[in-house]
Formats: sequence, structure tokens, C-alpha cells
Amino acid sequence: MTEDPSVGTVYLIGSGPGDPELMTVKAARLLEECDVVLHDKLPGPKIIGALPEDAEDVGKRAGGERTSQNEINERLVTLARAGNDVARLKGGDPFVFGRGGEEAEYLAAHGVPFEVVPAVTSAVAAPAVAGIPVTHRDHASSVSFVTGHEDPTKDESAVDWNALAATGGTIVVLMGVGRLPDYTRALLEAGMAPATPVALIERGTWPGQQVATGTLETIVDLRDDAGIAPPAITVIGEVAGTRERVLEFIQNAYDSDGEPDVDIDMGV
Ligand code: SAH
Repeated sequence: MTEDPSVGTVYLIGSGPGDPELMTVKAARLLEECDVVLHDKLPGPKIIGALPEDAEDVGKRAGGERTSQNEINERLVTLARAGNDVARLKGGDPFVFGRGGEEAEYLAAHGVPFEVVPAVTSAVAAPAVAGIPVTHRDHASSVSFVTGHEDPTKDESAVDWNALAATGGTIVVLMGVGRLPDYTRALLEAGMAPATPVALIERGTWPGQQVATGTLETIVDLRDDAGIAPPAITVIGEVAGTRERVLEFIQNAYDSDGEPDVDIDMGV
């Protein structure tokens, strides 16, 4: 394939979970080198605050309305065709529930060269900083990453909660704050023990990180008591119970006092 040198490259970059020090060296370099940065809200306040002032926020626009995926796709193509190298910055890893795959296909279909820059996904990192390993030799030999966005009672639900309950492994739910009552019920009905440990990690590695732990039976009330809101990760399985055994000594502090304060050079 011959590449048109007048067309820029789009970099589909993961920002990691939010702590700027957990961003890859490559992501930081590209944010500095690219002509334009397009981001949404998920990279979190620390990283967004360090972006160039003219970075475009496609997560929300003036009226509070979201920019549609189509508009984002078209904007990427327009910018690249105008000769810009574009940093498309997404929270976590760009190909884990990040719609990075859709953007890659759109770019390819429109003849725009792109590069994927993988990153630390919140699905693993948010539990980790709360003291929860998603696998553990004694507790979980498999881990499933699922979206909690769908209605588990719908027949056409793309997530098979019965099958997940049967794995005996860890279930990590993204986008799963609102429907927590629905899928915890689905898992109980599928035969999982009511005492199965569950943890919620909100804004993992961001200032104001919050963690709530309970069981399949108690977690909905605990969510409400703690006021857990998106973005948050739900971890279901025995591994969620290991947190209390390490809590006294784990030093990952990301509350408003404990957030590591680094200056990351992104050419600002
Ligand atoms: N590509 C992202 C996921 C995007 S889907 C990644 O790899 O992490 C959006 C969901 O990601 C949110 O609803 C939430 O479940 C999760 N999420 C992203 N960042 C998070 C963070 N810092 N703490 C907790 N959950 C987070």
C-alpha cells in the first residue's frame, strides 16, 4: 500500500487509569509530539489538566451533550487528512471497552494510517491499587471482563451471567454501577453463593478514589451508603476478599491527600 505523505497518522492512545505516572512513556511522548489531541473524560483530572490548552474534549460539548461516535470518527479523518498527526487519548487501554476498535476500522476504511498505543487498563489497575489481584493461585484461575451496561433480564443480553457464574473465576464489570442490582441478582439466581466477596472501586488512581467491599448480597446497599458513582469497577469473586488481609500495609494512597504529585512533561 502506498501511503499519502500529506495525510497525518492517528495514534489511538490509552492514558492508563488516571495516575499520570501510570501512563506509558510512549503515550507521554506522543502527546507532546502530535499536532492535535482529542480526549474524553476518562483519562481523569490529573492527565486532562496536563494536556495542551487547545486539546479537544470530545467527551462533552457546550450543551453538556456527548459528541457522537460518528462525529468523533469523522473528526479524526478530517484532522488527519489536513496533515495533522492526531493523539486520540482514551482512558485505560484503548481496546478494552474503549471503542478503539471502531475507530481503527473507520480509519482503515478511510485510508488513514493509525497506530495503537496499548495501556494499563482500569479493569486490572483499579482493583490492584485497592489491594485486589484479579487472579490468585488460591482463589481464581480465570478472569472475565464484562460490560455492566446491559439489562441482564433482556433475552438478547450479550453477557451470559449464568455462564460467568459457572466459571468460578473472577468477574470484573466495567460500566456497572447503575445495573449492579440487576447483575448481582442474576448471579445469585445462577447459583453463586450470597457470601461471594464483591468490591467496588470508584475513580481508581484518581484523587478521591473510593472503595467499598461487601458480598453479592450486601453490595447494593453498600454502594448506596458510600455513594459510589461512575466511573467504577466491580470485582466479583474470592479475590475481592483478599483486600482486608493487606489493607493495613498497602501504600497505594490516592485520596485527595495521597495522590502522587508529579509534573509530566507533555510539552505544555
Ligand atoms: N478503556 C477503559 C474502559 C472504558 S469503559 C479501560 O481500559 O480502563 C468505561 C468504564 O471503565 C467505566 O464505566 C469504569 O467501569 C471503567 N473505568 C475507567 N477508568 C476507571 C477508573 N480510573 N476507576 C474505576 N473505573 C474506571
